[in-house]
Amino acid sequence: TDHSKFLVTGGAGFIGSHLVDALLARGEPVVVLDDLSTGRMENLSRARRHGRFRFVHGSVLDAPLVDELVSGCDRIVHLAAAVGVKLIVEQPLKSFTVNTKGTETVIEAAHRHSRPVLIASTSEIYGKNSSGPLTETSDRILGSPSVSRWSYSTAKAVDEILAELYRREYGLNSTIVRFFNTVGPRQSPAYGMVIPRFARQAVRGEPLTVYGTGQQQRCFLHVNDVVAALLSLIDRPESQGETFNIGSDEEISILDLAARVIGSAKSTSTLQRVPYSAAYGPGFEDMERRVPDTTKLRAFTGWRPQRNLDDVLA
Ligand code: NAD
Repeated sequence: TDHSKFLVTGGAGFIGSHLVDALLARGEPVVVLDDLSTGRMENLSRARRHGRFRFVHGSVLDAPLVDELVSGCDRIVHLAAAVGVKLIVEQPLKSFTVNTKGTETVIEAAHRHSRPVLIASTSEIYGKNSSGPLTETSDRILGSPSVSRWSYSTAKAVDEILAELYRREYGLNSTIVRFFNTVGPRQSPAYGMVIPRFARQAVRGEPLTVYGTGQQQRCFLHVNDVVAALLSLIDRPESQGETFNIGSDEEISILDLAARVIGSAKSTSTLQRVPYSAAYGPGFEDMERRVPDTTKLRAFTGWRPQRNLDDVLA
């Protein structure tokens, strides 16, 4: 058979569990390694009915376990990470450790067993002063290490550097994906992502809390389109050693988004302005415009998003 056995770290999480469902639907056997820190078993309720699925409760920091699982698989998708602005702001050191040492452990095992690995990075690595549309070469963090935003973006930048060094020195077969804002079912409202929060506030008739001016521009890609992009990269050997943005380029300001959510929920909610500092502590700022340039992904794979913002909100 042509099927590859996949190890998906963080596979009980939001993006991971959707990828797992898609891989199983294609007939690929899947092993998930997840410590269930933010992931949930109920995200895997469909997967667990599948004969080719196995769940391992453990951490990517557990090097012997990672080594054993990597040796038993053909390919790795590394999504496990400490995520969510609140968690990262409250526990920067812990999240930094998971997001660097965890990735190093996975990369080292991938190298030792010569397995291809796809590694999740983030639009955060472009820093907060970028305008965009952001191409894969517009990062400022990797270009100038002093420009860092939170432990999260720095840790992901370290992961990218590490993967590149393993690639240069040992020929590691790695692909980096920089996810931009992703939304869809199974996303925990606990992360404070704006669409789940607005939707909940609108449905309850509570004011929608808009951070900062609300003029900031964002794009939201449905998780199914993210999974389609991942599968298209997995299927193309040319993606090896490359970095790809994965995101929507349908831009909207947060104020317009609030109005759209209120409209589609037929809600009577009003808006409430909240300074970033009230939500995340003093000195916190956010990017004015976060928009990916996805020309490279489209050119390599022919990928096109199948859903627009209206579909996402519905
Ligand atoms: P998620 O929290 O739902 O998924 C992360 C998963 O990793 C969870 O299941 C969690 O339990 C698991 N995990 C955390 N620490 C672990 C550890 N030490 N060992 C094993 N498992 C561990 O979040 P997500 O949105 O699905 O994110 C998946 C990946 O995508 C992450 O690497 C994240 O940084 C990246 N990302 C996501 C977005 C987005 O918009 N959702 C944007 C940029 C980047």
